[in-house]
Amino acid sequence: MHEVAVIGGGIVGSSVGYHLARAGVDTVLLDREDEGRATAAGAGILSPATSSRTDSDTWFEFAIEAVAYYDDLVAALEAEQDGDTGYARPGLLSVALDDAEVEAFEAAMSRIERRQADLGSPEPGSFRELSPAEARERLPALAEDVRRAASYENAARVDGRIFTEALRRAGRAHGLEIRRTEAEGIRVEDGAVAGVETEDGALDAERVVVAGGAWSGAFGDDLGVEIPVEPKRGQIAHLGAAELDTADWPIVSPFRGHYVVPWPDDRVVAGATREAGSGFAPYKTAGGVREVLDECLRVVPGLDDAELEEIRVGLRPVSADKLPVLGEVPDVDGAFIATGHGATGLQLGPYSGKLVAQAARGADVETDISAFGVERFEG
Ligand SMILES: Cc1cc2nc3c(=O)[nH]c(=O)nc-3n(C[C@H](O)[C@H](O)[C@H](O)COP(=O)(O)OP(=O)(O)OC[C@H]3O[C@@H](n4cnc5c(N)ncnc54)[C@H](O)[C@@H]3O)c2cc1C
Repeated sequence: MHEVAVIGGGIVGSSVGYHLARAGVDTVLLDREDEGRATAAGAGILSPATSSRTDSDTWFEFAIEAVAYYDDLVAALEAEQDGDTGYARPGLLSVALDDAEVEAFEAAMSRIERRQADLGSPEPGSFRELSPAEARERLPALAEDVRRAASYENAARVDGRIFTEALRRAGRAHGLEIRRTEAEGIRVEDGAVAGVETEDGALDAERVVVAGGAWSGAFGDDLGVEIPVEPKRGQIAHLGAAELDTADWPIVSPFRGHYVVPWPDDRVVAGATREAGSGFAPYKTAGGVREVLDECLRVVPGLDDAELEEIRVGLRPVSADKLPVLGEVPDVDGAFIATGHGATGLQLGPYSGKLVAQAARGADVETDISAFGVERFEG
């Protein structure tokens, strides 16, 4: 009998498992390692301060806390395990090239000023407009026709695969058990969790956390709730650009929903498509690959000769209102959910994992997550 079984081992489930094990809770992490799991494809931009999301201060305030938590978590992981964490703080360059983008740039400047005044982020002095010449000095591979630019020096990036491995290694050091298997169902007896049926047999557990990314909705029937989370495919290109010395590049963020991110090993990643209605179909498409390469080369034409090394494809777990789904399931004792992070799960996921781990071990949850409860979708 385990105290807690966590279903799903992406960045969210691995964070739940790590935090539970670190607190001394006997925990097993069950992961099917689906092709298309989002964590293995994510670009890893951590920069809520410059996010174009305008729908919700709830998201923004949570994202600021979540990204601030990276500092503590990276320090803990560096002390608790030997590998890299895949985390760095390269800064971010916002750029506008045409009329429509200049308009979007000006709207972004107003939004950022409002957030700075009302919510204290971005931090004073960390965000400033640059001249086009300064922007090209910062990144010579940039397009010559940049018209407006701004720099945000606290933007960070994380390689989701490397970070998740670090969480798992540290979790194991604290006693976390990890099994590669499929969870086929959650066993509920007399209104309380009793265990998980897996493809390798039944497993007894007092509590369960569903952190199955885009696949989480499959457990709704067992728990008597709707978990409205859908897959949204993203395709992202990995370019090898050793000759351009990309180690000091900032993240580049234009205004058509795409980006270019410097990564370890002389790579830059160019992303990403946002394909609502893709279903569980984690394959690359001709149009998707063309889209991300066209947009990348429009903004950073200096990458024209970069080697096209790999196209990754991931399914973002998007909830019906685009906010995470976190916390206790109302009518089943011992059932918890941590999913629905959509396009921002690498920013939010490690912190969500910490909070849901607190809930699942009966501790006080350090921040109010009631806005993210699954019961909001009822009726
Ligand atoms: C192209 C792309 C770019 C992105 N860029 C960014 C970015 O710049 N910044 C950012 O913050 N976020 C970004 N994201 C989003 C981010 O990657 C996701 O929100 C996040 O990784 C979701 O993590 P997760 O653990 O919930 O899901 P996943 O990583 O999908 O993991 C879910 C896991 O659960 C397992 N599972 C499911 N069902 C079962 C079952 N029945 N039994 C056992 N295991 C099961 C799966 O196999 C999988 O391993 C991006 C995503 C994509 C695709």
